[in-house]
Amino acid sequence: MSFVLPPLPYAKTALEPYLTEENIDLHYSKHHNAYVVNLNKFIDEGKVDGSKTLEEVILSSDGPVFNNAAQIWNHTFYWSSLKPGGGGAPTGALAEAINRDFGSFAKFKEEFTNAAVSQFGSGWAWLVVENGKLKVTKTGNADLPLKYSQTALLTCDVWEHAYYPTYKNLRPKYVETFLNSLANWDFAAANLAKA
Ligand code: MN
Repeated sequence: MSFVLPPLPYAKTALEPYLTEENIDLHYSKHHNAYVVNLNKFIDEGKVDGSKTLEEVILSSDGPVFNNAAQIWNHTFYWSSLKPGGGGAPTGALAEAINRDFGSFAKFKEEFTNAAVSQFGSGWAWLVVENGKLKVTKTGNADLPLKYSQTALLTCDVWEHAYYPTYKNLRPKYVETFLNSLANWDFAAANLAKA
């Protein structure tokens, strides 16, 4: 068995002008795909049990196997964390949980922005649920909430490859755009409902 690159949930042009087609093509067809190719190579070399699920591989590995497996998971989750016509504010149970645990949506945005902008080097900003409470976290490189028994609701990739083609060095502008125009609150709400 081998792992496959999941289809993008929208066209590569669908997030323009916030993320350009060139940006999405590079990120999905080159970076995300490379993690899949690498992990399958590890299966061929006998370094990974190909009968395991991606989550099982992530939780039972370290080093290059963990990095590639976790990056497959993170990127698949990231594509769903974005949507054309996204952004704005969440509604319903998710909005209530954000108000309960952050005080307000504005406070959540401030915390999420700080996490995304302050992650030094490559990594991810997350909205997660931990012990029934919503929380903002950041992880370095391929690290992810699954390792800490947290349920991910939404993520923003802050590796330079995620935004450089569109925003160059302006990570804060990318994070602001992510929250205002791209964040998929329907996806986050569905993840909360399952948590
Ligand atoms: Mn990435």
